[in-house]
Amino acid sequence: MVTTALTDHPGPHLAGGHLIIDLDALAHNYRLLKERARPADVAGVVKANAYGLGIEPVARTLWEEGCRRFFVALPHEGIVLRQILPEADIFVFNGLFGAEAAAAYGAARLIPVLNSPTDLSMWEAYGWDGDVRRPCALHVETGINRLGLTADHARQFAEENALTGALTPILVMTHLACADVPGHPMSAAQLARFRELRRLFPDATASIANSAGVFLGGDYLCDVVRPGIALYGGNPISGMESPLRPVVTALSRVAQIRHLNAGETVGYGATPVHRDSIIAVGSTGYADGYHRALSRTGSPAERIPAHSFIHGRRVPVIGRISMDLTLFDVTDLGENAVAPGDMIELFGPNIPLDEVANACGTISYELLTSLGQRYYREYVRKQS
Ligand SMILES: *Cc1c(COP(=O)(O)O)cnc(C)c1O
Repeated sequence: MVTTALTDHPGPHLAGGHLIIDLDALAHNYRLLKERARPADVAGVVKANAYGLGIEPVARTLWEEGCRRFFVALPHEGIVLRQILPEADIFVFNGLFGAEAAAAYGAARLIPVLNSPTDLSMWEAYGWDGDVRRPCALHVETGINRLGLTADHARQFAEENALTGALTPILVMTHLACADVPGHPMSAAQLARFRELRRLFPDATASIANSAGVFLGGDYLCDVVRPGIALYGGNPISGMESPLRPVVTALSRVAQIRHLNAGETVGYGATPVHRDSIIAVGSTGYADGYHRALSRTGSPAERIPAHSFIHGRRVPVIGRISMDLTLFDVTDLGENAVAPGDMIELFGPNIPLDEVANACGTISYELLTSLGQRYYREYVRKQS
């Protein structure tokens, strides 16, 4: 059992916010992606602590669903995952980091995604594991221009490696820049370049698609798809009706109810209320990852405010979000409808994660990965 500070929370009665992480929904989303990607295999991307949800319960759930390939960004994440899943194939996106890191990769049986000629020669230099040539993955660059071997470097390496047999590339991958915009010409161009380069490594498994790529389907599926956000309930293609189940519910505890007269003000910067108002004060704020950009300080008509959900109704945020507190206008629920101790849904089944992300000008990925450490986290798993 790997324990983390997050799982050591003293209990829900002491927390300002609760996170309910529905592992059944995660399992459902994995099965749905498998259905969509068939016959391709579905790997699990669990970098950044499984997008903030907790790598241990997430990785175990995916393993139970038959997931055997996992991707992380950093070697340290890979070492943590190795303790959780002794048998998994663990790929590390961000490359080898240096000759010193190679031994750590070897010890934890991590498979580096080699991104540059330097990565290639460092892994070659690290050598063999007894009689076994250490496996590696290759990232070939096709247009996003972040990580990956250029086409020339990939060709040169393929030629040399055919002679020396120094490395055993078991997976060759690239990453799409515009997969979230169906029909974007960039994706077709990247696919064409990838097909050419993957031919250099005929024995390797091929992989292009992230979550959005799974929904592009067809030739984008290759042998293995690499979804992250779709597993966690984010909508990979904005505007698409999402077939994925929400996985995370974030709840804020109501600490106090205030009654204000029209013209009085709330919060830092003194935002005026425009009518006699009932305000619920929630015990979470931007330190919990409810971004300050969700504040509403202008007139109600100025922009669509962020909404939360309580007792069957959507209620808007009002005033500035502070570190530990957020104010909600619950006037429309009427007198005595909301009481201290009630929980307000910040996002979850009633308020889509993507709606809240849009309201503060970001994406679901950032909202999940910035969830704070103070929540009481509850993992729900009925099936097993
Ligand atoms: C994070 C990442 C993924 C997963 O992307 P999602 O959009 O979350 O599905 C896949 N491939 C690479 C290279 C990544 O960095």
